[in-house]
Amino acid sequence: MNSKLNIPLLFLLLFFFHGACRAPLHYLSAEEMHYEEGKSGKTTLAGQCRYWKHYATDTLIHDQPPLRTVRVNVHFMNNRAGTLSFGEEEGRAYARDLIYQANMLWSRNTPMNLPLGNHTPVLPARIRLELTPDPSKPGDDGIYFHYDDSLSYYNFYEQSKIFYSGKQFKRYGTGKGKVLNIFLMEHFPDSMRSPTYRKRNNGVGFPDWVMVIGSYTESRRYLVNEQGDSMSFGSWFMARLLNHELGHAFGLHHTWRGFDGCDDTPRNPNCWNYTHNGGPCDSLVSNNMMDYNTYQNALTPCQIGRMHANFALAGSKQRAKLRPDYCRYDSSAGRLLYGKDTLVIEGQHDMRGDLTIGRNTVVRLHCELRMAAGSRILLEPGSVLILDNCKIYNACGEKWKGIAAMKSRKNPGRVILKGESRILDTEETDRPAVEEEP
Ligand SMILES: [Zn+2]
Repeated sequence: MNSKLNIPLLFLLLFFFHGACRAPLHYLSAEEMHYEEGKSGKTTLAGQCRYWKHYATDTLIHDQPPLRTVRVNVHFMNNRAGTLSFGEEEGRAYARDLIYQANMLWSRNTPMNLPLGNHTPVLPARIRLELTPDPSKPGDDGIYFHYDDSLSYYNFYEQSKIFYSGKQFKRYGTGKGKVLNIFLMEHFPDSMRSPTYRKRNNGVGFPDWVMVIGSYTESRRYLVNEQGDSMSFGSWFMARLLNHELGHAFGLHHTWRGFDGCDDTPRNPNCWNYTHNGGPCDSLVSNNMMDYNTYQNALTPCQIGRMHANFALAGSKQRAKLRPDYCRYDSSAGRLLYGKDTLVIEGQHDMRGDLTIGRNTVVRLHCELRMAAGSRILLEPGSVLILDNCKIYNACGEKWKGIAAMKSRKNPGRVILKGESRILDTEETDRPAVEEEP
């Protein structure tokens, strides 16, 4: 090859290489941002920041809600003789399987039965449970057995005494505040022998703990099909009831009566299953997780949005139970926002990667944006980032890089702060004014 031709080619390549991969960046200081006084949108926004739509479908930052992993542990309440519930070996296997089965349901949202002929979108729930040991106890596996004659029996007619009281959680709760405690209780055996006793599987759910009744009793009950095969009502059966109570813990209400805060969950006769007797339960059988039915495997966009709003809300009990991976930087979780019209982002968001505001794009942010440690916001030339009563910060006491503008002599990206907007937790010290992007 002619060496004379090679030299200009080399310069050309170097020029392109430099242009493509080394865009000079400039991190903006507080003095370089524009502060606008004037009307604050705070009053209208207070409710908007928690509106479910910003968390289920209508979000520009994430295509779908971020996957939330809820830390849980499992407590078996047994009598002192150990005859009321599972033995420890079987119990451990049951607990693990129960969490597995519950996660199967969370990961497979299904179309709603009601209203009949509906076209309610089927969105992924993006919620998982994780059995979480107590790190301060060596060998702990997050599964516990308690032998207590006073707190282990459930009696339908005396529910308020030990069912709703939370006494089990107060005495035996582990990882309180950070781990959601699941208690498995059984019916009082003497009551069950009475023909008038209502042996109904029951449960209760609060943000710190949930309780379900009858997992051991059900595991000893068998279903025999037409071929004569038998199957016990094991963890697959109780996982539905567990998820219903977890739905309460995550902020959902029953849907069959009254308004549960969602327009896409119709009131219904709360049928357990199809009856084929000419009554309303011939057709109007719900399969929603928050009704009492044999399916409990459907969640609507509003229900998903409401749970994720609670997971996103700073300081909420639901958020405190999450595995805090929302603060860990993930370079693959970056997002480019680009558009001709102003993009308005509401709600509270956890950003695990870098956020880029595209060329000549205007983005208006409300509420809160939490940036993972080491992440940054990048402004392409001509872009404008408006913070309208918006706080940007790191939610885990760490530092994020801050807002950087790509160098542009004519039209550098700008930041405008309105109302009570703040930018906190940025790496500011010891940084050169201009950084070269590798
Ligand atoms: Zn309920």
